[in-house]
Amino acid sequence: MTREPAEPLRLDYMIKAGAIHSMTGETYRSVGVRGPEIVAVSADLEGLDDLAGGATTVVDAGDLTVLPAFADSHEHLMEASRNTLLVPVGKARSIAEFTGMVAAAARDAAPREWILTSIGWHESNLAENRLPTLAELDAAAPDRPVLARRGGHFAVANSAALQAAGIGPDTPDPPGGKIGRLADGSRDGTLEGGAVYQVAAFAPGPGRAELAGALGDGSAAYAALGVGTIREAMINLDELLAYQDARDRDLLRVRVRPMMRVGSELTEDAAIALIDGLGARSGFGDDWLRIWGLKLVLDGGVEGAAMDQPYVNDPGNGGHLNWDPAVMTRVCTEAAGRGWRIGTHAVGDRAVRMLLDVYEAVIAQVGPLSPWTLVIEHAMVTDAAERERAVRDGFGVTVQHPVLWNMGSEMLATWGPERTGRVTPLDQWVAAGADLAAGTDIVRPFNPMTNVWGMVTRGTKSAGVQGPEHAISVGTALELYTMGTAALNHEQDRLGSITPGKLADLVAYPLDPLAADPGDLAELSPVFTMVGGRATHDPRKWLAR
Ligand SMILES: [Zn+2]
Repeated sequence: MTREPAEPLRLDYMIKAGAIHSMTGETYRSVGVRGPEIVAVSADLEGLDDLAGGATTVVDAGDLTVLPAFADSHEHLMEASRNTLLVPVGKARSIAEFTGMVAAAARDAAPREWILTSIGWHESNLAENRLPTLAELDAAAPDRPVLARRGGHFAVANSAALQAAGIGPDTPDPPGGKIGRLADGSRDGTLEGGAVYQVAAFAPGPGRAELAGALGDGSAAYAALGVGTIREAMINLDELLAYQDARDRDLLRVRVRPMMRVGSELTEDAAIALIDGLGARSGFGDDWLRIWGLKLVLDGGVEGAAMDQPYVNDPGNGGHLNWDPAVMTRVCTEAAGRGWRIGTHAVGDRAVRMLLDVYEAVIAQVGPLSPWTLVIEHAMVTDAAERERAVRDGFGVTVQHPVLWNMGSEMLATWGPERTGRVTPLDQWVAAGADLAAGTDIVRPFNPMTNVWGMVTRGTKSAGVQGPEHAISVGTALELYTMGTAALNHEQDRLGSITPGKLADLVAYPLDPLAADPGDLAELSPVFTMVGGRATHDPRKWLAR
């Protein structure tokens, strides 16, 4: 029997560029792609010419700089995509505009249909700088339930929504949640933490097919900014099915690594039953859609973060903890024993300390775990002792400068300037030797280069420069945003750098971020993005075949 001679390696793409930064220390001039993978690199512009054939697309990107596509360690792609289907109150600039949008949606809605707003809004963008009241939402939509969720931990509802959810004057606060009340004890329509979900559970949102379509458009908007992978920071089982639909319909333009929500409103038994009912464990899926793990939420955001010191604008308030430590330890121990990774939202120093206690208790029972199995999400306000414990115990940390960028003014008002200045001190985390992965958590497409600019300048949207001493270098910021997230996703052998054998996730820029003035990075946009050897953003047809 004779064997056919081995087919010579022929590239699908040969990309030549001014600089191709591998993120492992090398700089190349050409990179070869075949199928979904990087198969060859060379420090010479002509170094791969022998691998080109008739079907090879040669991308002569002379002055461009190529990097690994960005991998966001913590973002809510599902919420950002769903927001595009909901009442867009993020565009309102006054209470009247906000309630006007709600009223218009109510006029178009079917009887008893819920009016759901986008969660991407904040009262600081309204001229009155306050929340819409329950009475104002009642006036805008007297007959229909209105739920105006804001971010992941807060909402304002109208009377019909509270009634539909069975929340009466005597309904107690749920575990890890708060039903807002006026001085006279009547409800004011605000919902915090678990109370948001208590009402949201009654509000039917867009269906799966609609969500899958929205994920297609939503993921394309991230790809257009140079993102190749998003670790999806919290979904439920229905939403996982919508992701699977989007993946099967070939709609996703970024890789997605979902975290499944385990809510603090559940009893210990119910939480463990939910985890058993997921039927899989961390790592299940394929290169496009692979389950990362579980998501727990231990405290609040700017409002509600559990702090050692009280809030400067509310001296009786030091935030809240959503989980009982003993219950959380047992749930996390069961989950880790079943092969689940866990990421827990902990913003304030008091929450981070409790989380370290819980994670250490888990390890004491199940034994050592591989890096990036028990993960701290955010850890915005920490002290040196907490950082040392996290590093010593091998608990990785996901970090999101865009939260400081976006909410710096609110942090100054709530936490005060001293704590705001030391939010997410990347220099100290890096110096301590922490496992770090960079991301956004901003629930809308956000330019990764604006994030890099923020990490290297500590600049914000409207609160100036906060804690400039905590800046890191461009090279380190890029590393946390590529290699860091690849390690977080347990995919450092497949993603995160430009290395033969890894997946061809690439992004090209008109200038070299490692050589440019950092000030030029804030608005720097990519020329093209490639994920798995496919163009996901290519307006000027550099990658057309
Ligand atoms: Zn988040």
